[in-house]
Amino acid sequence: MKNTKKPVPFFDILLTSLTILLIGASAYLFFLYNSNSSAQSPDKDLANVSSTIDETDSNFAGIKIITEIANDANTPFAIQYPQSNHTAFNDKIKKHIKGLQYDYLTNVEDYKQDHKDFTSELNISFETFQHPNGLYSFVFEKNESIDEESHATTQTFHLDPETGDMPLFEDLLENHEEQLTAFADIAAKHLKQNNANENTLSGEDITQLTEPYLENFAQFAFTDKALVLYFTLFEMDAPIPTIEIPYKEINDLLAAEFKISEDGLNAIENAAKKDKDGNKTNKKQQETTEDTNDKEVSNQKRVALTFDDGPAPNVTTRVLEILEKYDAIATFFMLGSRVEYYPEIAKQVQEAGHELGNHSWTHPDLSNATDEKVFEEIAKTSRIIEEVTGEKPLSFRPPYGVFNSTVEELAELPIALWDVDTLDWKHRNGDALLSYVENNVQDGSIILMHDIHASTADGLEAVMQYLVDNDFTFVTVSEVLE
Ligand code: ZN
Repeated sequence: MKNTKKPVPFFDILLTSLTILLIGASAYLFFLYNSNSSAQSPDKDLANVSSTIDETDSNFAGIKIITEIANDANTPFAIQYPQSNHTAFNDKIKKHIKGLQYDYLTNVEDYKQDHKDFTSELNISFETFQHPNGLYSFVFEKNESIDEESHATTQTFHLDPETGDMPLFEDLLENHEEQLTAFADIAAKHLKQNNANENTLSGEDITQLTEPYLENFAQFAFTDKALVLYFTLFEMDAPIPTIEIPYKEINDLLAAEFKISEDGLNAIENAAKKDKDGNKTNKKQQETTEDTNDKEVSNQKRVALTFDDGPAPNVTTRVLEILEKYDAIATFFMLGSRVEYYPEIAKQVQEAGHELGNHSWTHPDLSNATDEKVFEEIAKTSRIIEEVTGEKPLSFRPPYGVFNSTVEELAELPIALWDVDTLDWKHRNGDALLSYVENNVQDGSIILMHDIHASTADGLEAVMQYLVDNDFTFVTVSEVLE
């Protein structure tokens, strides 16, 4: 070949330029898409939950927990709900949640017309139960309050994680036209027994609540050992009466898919016996061997990084990686409800040597709660954190940073607030994180972030670099509080 410079055919040039154009355009689109999603509003998130669930993450196979929290002064809310691999279920749940959220925001808007200063709150949480055959029952509790007025409701949803079926009460009985009366009689017996202790219902109430109508039993949950019924009352001030009917009492009435085998019934009975007799003494880790020996006194400024509302798959784990890279310690204020779903991640936090903190179970405004509720929210969360990680939380961060003397007393833990708020829950912008830190951090600062937002993990590296460059040393919240 003499001629090394082969003339390039016109077609080749066209193809090459088209390819370059295409790559450029898709890169631009990719960039656009990503910058949009990081600026999402909390509300928009509700509609955009990915429907694939990494089963290794969650304690409940095929289910993940979504947490949406607005630390807003006017309309604070904390909303938690499950999502699955089944679109119909996911849509049904989101529709329900969106409806409640819309009502709340509208009610506050209306109230605003005639009132200047008022408090309001929306809290939606759920409990997860599982029938021995694998069916999930989700029991939602909604608490909405505007000033003194508050409303509580209980609503249940069900999902077969294999088939996506969402049974209703009418699917429960083998033949509800024939068996509903027998079922209602059993329910009435239990409600009477229950009421004997509390005596909040009249005889007439009990008759009315357990009349053989399907809608009387619409709110139910299958647990591992019993069918639970939630009754609705007109006056919502009274606690919602709940009864538990052991499976063995209704097994004959149940449709084939919910019937429990003889062996299954025996296993339930044996487990109940064991629970009664063998009150195993809790293995308490009495000695907390903290090495507090060498506290360096130096010119270094101290800062405590705190991460609230987790743990969360993908985010908490990324935060841990970044902290490790900077050899930094932090404090994680966990929600009990999320520790229940993601015990493995909670354990990873502890194993990485970080401090654990308690942030309640459902993220309510505790300054408005009854003593029982305050105690329950905190104690239950401390219990699961210790159960899962082997370590007790060392401090309590009240949801929304709101507390009173009752909360302080019942927490039995030091209260940990913060002085640097990154507002990461609001802007959801990784690039913005640093500016809030830069403008406010000082020696002894406690920085508030949330490890349920990917944007926070995105922006953390820049924050770490800044703090290191400015001679900050990382400490736990307990060290700052001392
Ligand atoms: Zn929080």
